Amino acid sequence: MIRRIEINYRGVFQKTLARQVASDLVRIAARTGKVGFSNGRYSDAPERNGVPCKYFVFISPDLSEEELEAECGAKLDIDEADISIVLDDTMVKGVEPWAWSGIRPINEKVIEGGFLLVVSNKEVGELMKFIPKKEYPYHLAILPGESSLSGLWVFHDDLTHERVLGAMAGLDPELVSIDAVESYLRERTKDERRVAAAVEGYEWVHHRYKVVSPEEGIDWPHAVPVLPAWTEFREGVAVPAIQRGFRLGPRGQSRSTIFRRGTTKTMRPVIRFDLCRKCTLCWLECPDECFDPTPDGRYDVDYQYCVGCGKCAEVCPVNECIVMVDELRFDDDSSPWEFWNRDPQGYVDWAEEKKGAMRQKPLVVTGAGPVVTAPGQRVPARGVHDMTDQEVSR
Ligand code: SF4
Ligand code: SF4
Repeated sequence: MIRRIEINYRGVFQKTLARQVASDLVRIAARTGKVGFSNGRYSDAPERNGVPCKYFVFISPDLSEEELEAECGAKLDIDEADISIVLDDTMVKGVEPWAWSGIRPINEKVIEGGFLLVVSNKEVGELMKFIPKKEYPYHLAILPGESSLSGLWVFHDDLTHERVLGAMAGLDPELVSIDAVESYLRERTKDERRVAAAVEGYEWVHHRYKVVSPEEGIDWPHAVPVLPAWTEFREGVAVPAIQRGFRLGPRGQSRSTIFRRGTTKTMRPVIRFDLCRKCTLCWLECPDECFDPTPDGRYDVDYQYCVGCGKCAEVCPVNECIVMVDELRFDDDSSPWEFWNRDPQGYVDWAEEKKGAMRQKPLVVTGAGPVVTAPGQRVPARGVHDMTDQEVSR
């Protein structure tokens, strides 16, 4: 028998977290006489900030090390997962985990009766708005917590690691028992805070998960990609160039249709076009060239390509004009500029409702994680010429 676990994580920001969870699951299982190993997979290479990536863990109570390696070691992906862990809840919108071949459902690999374990402060209903139906029942468990995001080689040590280990014991005690998790952490870290965090994770999810029936979830809006067999590969190494083109307006700049990368983001910029001073900075500075010049001299954003880095919000000189907002507050990637043109007041109301009261700064490079800053300010809808310089400056 083999238990297969996948750990969905955000590239770079959660790599250390995912690797530690994976390797500790193997070590804990080994202490109770099981055999296991873990391996990882990038999405593209090298790993990009925020890109959906996976670690895998394979554990067996009855196979030898060689047999388990032969069964699971030579594959780049798994066909099915007994448990799928999701370390950042915005990945429930879909992941592009392999060569950017398309957006795949987060629960794609979960087997009948298996578990989807999501670290999130959202309710079940808020997550199920984005998760597709499956043909069979499975379980959804939520481990309360912020997505633990950190910087390049920095680990955000906020005890998510220990809480996830405890939660795994809560979901599948045969895989790892909470006693084994506790004794492992106590021995290895000599830190009772870490043991207590694991117990907290265990108690939270133990018998506290939802059975998701085949009727629950959404109809998946994306075509599920099928990777070509090696016999279907084209000869040679010529990669077709992207056809160059430009016109004013939404999606007017030529971009790759197969390298969209929008599932990389945990936050997206909300733009108050009525406050825009047409300074060009967002368009110039966006590292992924997501802004499209519009006929009125403003800049629309293409959310299919935005990776949520927050640079546009940093450089915009106008107070409250670009604000980064939790990605799970949005249902689609349609053009915000078109919405604003159709219904200016309706758009401003929508934008302010999405922005909410508080503002977040993603201090991920320091490993401190995102911080909530002072309440934002609701600037009334107005034309830019109505504003004084003092009102405009941040
Ligand atoms: S957050 Fe802003 S700067 Fe960053 S990729 Fe998205 S649109 Fe571009
Ligand atoms: S940075 Fe801000 S003010 Fe400047 S063009 Fe972009 S949205 Fe407008």
